Amino acid sequence: APSVVWFRDDLRVGDHPALHAAVERGEPIVAVYVLDEESTGIRPLGGAARWWLHHSLASLADDLRERGVRLVLRRGEAGRVIRSLVDEVGAGAVYWNRRYGGAEREIDTALKAGLRDAGLEVESFAGSLLFEPWTIRTGSGTPFSVFTPFWKACLAADEPRRPLPAPSELDGVGGPSGRGGPASDDLDDWGLLPTAPDWAGGLRETWEPGEAAAHRRLREFLRDDLVDYATGRDRMDRQVTSRLSPRLRWGELSPHQVWHATREHAAGTEGARKFLSEVGWREFAWHVLFHFPDLATKNWRAEFDAFPWPHLHPSALTAWERGRTGVPVVDAGMRELWHSGVLHNRVRMIAASFLTKNLLIDWRRGEQWFWDTLVDADHASNPFGWQWVAGSGADAAPYFRVFNPELQREKFDPDGEYVRRWVPEYGTDDYPEPIVDLKATRDAALAAYERVKASR
Ligand code: FAD
Repeated sequence: APSVVWFRDDLRVGDHPALHAAVERGEPIVAVYVLDEESTGIRPLGGAARWWLHHSLASLADDLRERGVRLVLRRGEAGRVIRSLVDEVGAGAVYWNRRYGGAEREIDTALKAGLRDAGLEVESFAGSLLFEPWTIRTGSGTPFSVFTPFWKACLAADEPRRPLPAPSELDGVGGPSGRGGPASDDLDDWGLLPTAPDWAGGLRETWEPGEAAAHRRLREFLRDDLVDYATGRDRMDRQVTSRLSPRLRWGELSPHQVWHATREHAAGTEGARKFLSEVGWREFAWHVLFHFPDLATKNWRAEFDAFPWPHLHPSALTAWERGRTGVPVVDAGMRELWHSGVLHNRVRMIAASFLTKNLLIDWRRGEQWFWDTLVDADHASNPFGWQWVAGSGADAAPYFRVFNPELQREKFDPDGEYVRRWVPEYGTDDYPEPIVDLKATRDAALAAYERVKASR
């Protein structure tokens, strides 16, 4: 009886524990991806994410077809779709790599129990995180709320397993053409790509989704950029960070592959240590989400519920989204984001600080815009990053830390190259005055924060 391998945020064939288990089992394989826009609690993907998903799925389908398996595409409520596929093919086993969001876990747990009751072998594997969230605990058994001791505990735990090799040949039900196998949707019918207007030109210029391109970028980063990473990572005018975030988001690379490739290339160097600790922030964000599934909607620190977000002035939010605030580094960042679907970490922090502290707009509004426009938008890192900047999150920047966009620009874009690239009209009459006074709004934000402190 065939093995069903359910692909989710792990769009790769290398280091894929669920696929590996199916190969070991030795029966024909049915590979499936489900576009689930129906299950309760599943957050609908943003526009940029849908674009990435389309291309990454096309690439995965090619990689599987070359090995003899067709990727079956289905849409609908995931639990129902998988159960019906299992019946159709008479599957004997179902394998997947774990997900860590609240709604996703509920779906997976219920499905696992139901299929096991029906006599199937069902296994889930660790594929997307280096350390399973329930294994990293403080001395008193609680989850960590501060990054440094969290990462220390991770480094003291067993080293993440070595990556599994990509299978070279697979035995698929119905063969690579799928004739005689289960029916599949046509990817083009899913409408994941924009039509009119086609806003994805900048994404196409910037990115090549897929596992092969992800490995190329990893090798290139280690070879060319890792040496400058520790000292240069904050510079927005230079490109020394890895740009692997969408690869990890969609699982074109596993963190295990990144971990071991980095160690093999440069163990013991400052660059490797710093880079892997950034990958550690990704782990931390996911562990926080695991223990606090409402991360995207609720303040992690409940006392922030008392924060008096003033009435939203819609034109201010629009000016921020479009990169027309009159604050050059914020505008440069927001235009880069719209164009290319990605944003340097430092500029994410500055833009988020400006929205929440100078415009006094609720972090959830900014988080939603990033969710829609980032190709790496993920369920954990995005709300985690926003709450970190807003001051309401785990191990957050203290509220009174309001980024000064002008000082940040002098420090991290010293020759003005980054701003010139994205805001060519800066310095001419065409560029607007700042929509708010930075100093006055900073003082107002600090006064508003007093309300939070008073509510403690
Ligand atoms: P590198 O510096 O090369 O880091 C390597 C990898 O480590 C990254 O690819 C990423 O997977 C991980 N990483 C690095 N920094 C962080 C961090 N602070 N938090 C979590 N993971 C990190 N990252 C996302 O992957 N998805 C998001 O939706 C996201 N939203 C963010 C929102 C805000 C407001 C902020 C301040 C940060 C956000 N980040 C998010 C974190 C970070 O900005 C990006 O991971 C990073 O800029 C990606 O660039 P890179 O791959 O070149 O990073």
